[in-house]
Amino acid sequence: MNSSLLRTWFLVSVSAGSFAVGAGPLSLNLRDRVEAPGGSGSFEVRERRAEWDPARTAVVLCDMWDQHWCRSATARVAEMAPRMNAVIQAARRAGVLIIHCPSSTLDFYRDSPGRKLAQSAPVVEARVPLQGWCSLDRTKEPALPIDDSDGGCDDWPQCAQGSPWKRQIAALEIAPGDAITDSAEAYYLMRQRGIENVIVMGVHLNMCVLGRPFGIRQLVAQGLNVVLMRDLTDTMYNSRRRPFVSHFVGTDLMVAHVEQHWCPTVTSADFIDGEPFRFAADRRKTVALLVGENEYRTWETLPAFAAEELAWRGYTLKAVTSSTRTDDFSWDNWAALKDAAVIVVSARRRAMPDGMRALLRAHLAAGRGLVGIRTASHAFAVRGPARAELVPGAGLVEWADFDPEVFGGNYHGHHGAGPETSLAVVAGAVGHPVLTGVSAEDFTGHGSLYQVAPLKPDATVLLQGTIPGQPTEPVAWVRTYGARHARVFYTSLGHAEDFAEPSFRRLFLNAVLWAMDEPIPPAAAP
Ligand SMILES: [Zn+2]
Repeated sequence: MNSSLLRTWFLVSVSAGSFAVGAGPLSLNLRDRVEAPGGSGSFEVRERRAEWDPARTAVVLCDMWDQHWCRSATARVAEMAPRMNAVIQAARRAGVLIIHCPSSTLDFYRDSPGRKLAQSAPVVEARVPLQGWCSLDRTKEPALPIDDSDGGCDDWPQCAQGSPWKRQIAALEIAPGDAITDSAEAYYLMRQRGIENVIVMGVHLNMCVLGRPFGIRQLVAQGLNVVLMRDLTDTMYNSRRRPFVSHFVGTDLMVAHVEQHWCPTVTSADFIDGEPFRFAADRRKTVALLVGENEYRTWETLPAFAAEELAWRGYTLKAVTSSTRTDDFSWDNWAALKDAAVIVVSARRRAMPDGMRALLRAHLAAGRGLVGIRTASHAFAVRGPARAELVPGAGLVEWADFDPEVFGGNYHGHHGAGPETSLAVVAGAVGHPVLTGVSAEDFTGHGSLYQVAPLKPDATVLLQGTIPGQPTEPVAWVRTYGARHARVFYTSLGHAEDFAEPSFRRLFLNAVLWAMDEPIPPAAAP
């Protein structure tokens, strides 16, 4: 054995022997966002593994206070603290330095060993001078994706702002060897210990986790390898503010901002068993797209619309599809209808397995929403030679009355291709939530005008359409269906060119949100 190998063996055995548990490097799954090839301006998620030496790694716990001025923020800190404590126990056992940073509460820890440890680190010169607060850095990031200018309280009435915090939440154990600070001491301690890697967790991501002297912006500026633990953080974000998404989607957007502009993220699952943490109130709804038609390219327009308008708002998307062949009555993934909060139907004269029709009926009977577009009025009414497949007992069924029964509609044909349809908001429907931000003057219908009048009297017409020399026809309406009042929306619009109209897109977004009883953004919102 030559001396070089001997030295390597010696170092490995010593470092392995210094850990009680989890000897060896930390194995992390880093996630960030990088610009797509070609400088397109769009960003793609990138995942890669990294191995970090625990002896050169620190965990920073940011502002995990016992009490926040916002009662919901206090509750969320308490909800995530047990899993965070399990993470820091595992990290500590592996040899990682734990730095508790409950800002403005250090009096509580005045004489503790953790304070003395932090204070004992000699002051060193930082690569970039450390400040008490580092706000938005326009050289590195655009404006935050959420409007937190009201303080971010999501309660109603909003909580009164103040400084009620007295200490770090007790559920986070402070063990011998841990440090306690709320200043640049954290960085001095890292330098003293030869720390190269930092895992930041705690609250609130849009404020202190980024801005403090031990936060992401300033540690990245020192050249440290910084990661955010993305499932053990939270934001101060009020969903009544831009971009009008749920509190938890607001946090997702902030995580994406960090991944795109500052540093990678990891989850607690890199340290302990179990799924990444999720708040109990964080329930994402599923939108199912049921597409089987051959005329209007909704097999392209609907998934694109959903990806652009619904995915970033936190909705889970599922596709239930058939081919564009008019005699193809097979459907992929129809069991996914079971979990949907809303089903968007764009089908034309298709039969389906009886189990699929049963799921559609059960969905409506449970009071869940349904949105129909264009040929959905005759989605499941089979015509022509294909009727031969509807042999009783063969398992394929139609739903011939779907239009009158569910939509309250009366489709009986359409005018030929010709002039575009002029649209107008029906006087009595002004103020309906589905029309929020929709200006009928701005857009026309690009497909032929469907003949659908008269509707069932309990349908509420929102938009009507006119072509020269013909009676006006309802073009978009709402209704409730069944004893549980399932919210139903139908529009005869939905030509591929309609999807390029901002007012159509807004109408359709509103309809999907309304049908699953989600908040609808105000008129001026994106
Ligand atoms: Zn509050």
